Amino acid sequence: MRPHGGRRLVTGFREAVIDLGAIAANVAHLRTLIGTPHLMAVVKANAYGHGALPVARTALAAGADWLGVADVDEALQLRAGGIDAPILAWLHDPDVDFRAAISQDIDLGLSSARQLRQAADAAAALGRTASVQLKLETGLNRNGVHEPDWADVFALAAGLERAGLLRVRGLFSHLSNASPSDDADAVGRFERGVRLAADAGLAPSLIHLASTAAALRLPAARFSMVRIGIGLYGLSPFEDQNSHDLGLVPAMTLRGRVAAVRRVAAGAGVSYDYLWRAPEDGNLALVPLGYADGVPRQASGAATVRIGGRTHPIVGRIAMDQFVVSVGQVNVSVGDEVVLFGDPRAGAPSATDWADAAGTINYEIVTRIGHRVPRSYRQPGEATQSGTEG
Ligand SMILES: *Cc1c(COP(=O)(O)O)cnc(C)c1O
Repeated sequence: MRPHGGRRLVTGFREAVIDLGAIAANVAHLRTLIGTPHLMAVVKANAYGHGALPVARTALAAGADWLGVADVDEALQLRAGGIDAPILAWLHDPDVDFRAAISQDIDLGLSSARQLRQAADAAAALGRTASVQLKLETGLNRNGVHEPDWADVFALAAGLERAGLLRVRGLFSHLSNASPSDDADAVGRFERGVRLAADAGLAPSLIHLASTAAALRLPAARFSMVRIGIGLYGLSPFEDQNSHDLGLVPAMTLRGRVAAVRRVAAGAGVSYDYLWRAPEDGNLALVPLGYADGVPRQASGAATVRIGGRTHPIVGRIAMDQFVVSVGQVNVSVGDEVVLFGDPRAGAPSATDWADAAGTINYEIVTRIGHRVPRSYRQPGEATQSGTEG
């Protein structure tokens, strides 16, 4: 039952609340700050766990004009959901059949002569022209055309363009963020590639290199478009600046309800292997989220949660479906709201706090929130109550 404009009054048993107003505000803020003609909202991996369709619609309404995904399948799902904005997909099955993508007007990010031929074959079979963007290798050594092959691949692309089979709409690459000098080297290499492509007769209208980190800190990498992933979700890609410092609002609040409470005596063990024993008599609360839901087991004994306006430590091992919180002498009740992470300005721990506790990055924390956790959406303009505390 979802009375009152679709918002449930009671916290779900397990739930990820996605504040679409935060997504819209982050897009608007980054657009103004960065000022490139184009801004791509990166919504791969189910929009980093936030839900691809609602995030895509919100980002487009807020001023993004491109969507980026890894696979063609992700792009096709956006089309099936009614999204008609430009979409770029850049990671492909070796035996990919590009026909569906081309007929649905999905731009193909291509990294090799083989992929160019696959795109041209699919376009020929359809009697259409594929729109492609060539990815250049500039240091990461993942995919992208390797520098020694640039001239040949550009010549091949120019020939296929003259044959009407494809049009090279963009050139792009991706940075390592290893250090400012490594990124400056990559920018230089990328610029050489852009000049070489022009010499080969290509005239791409979109030149893009920066994801969130470089978009914010390396103006030389902005070119005509930036590809914004983590910033869209209100999280910082940096260790020395948090969301608030960057003017971003975290969009995901992960929460649940206390499923059981008990009082234990000093010395009682908790959860598998008794990694933790109660130092004194006290109260425990059981939270019904575990590593099946993306709560990292590595954060056992290290992360904290918010219950009733107070922060409490997780104790013992995080299990598949549940973990235990020590609340000391505080009284909590079955059914109380537990916030694992959300917007620190509402008092909640951040996704980055969880990442620190688990030895990973905030990207992984939000992206791995599992299918068993229902997403609920707060529309732009709805009051933000994430991490409500009475
Ligand atoms: C994931 C990804 C992005 C987004 O990166 P953020 O750091 O999340 O902004 C941009 N470009 C490419 C090629 C990616 O794979």
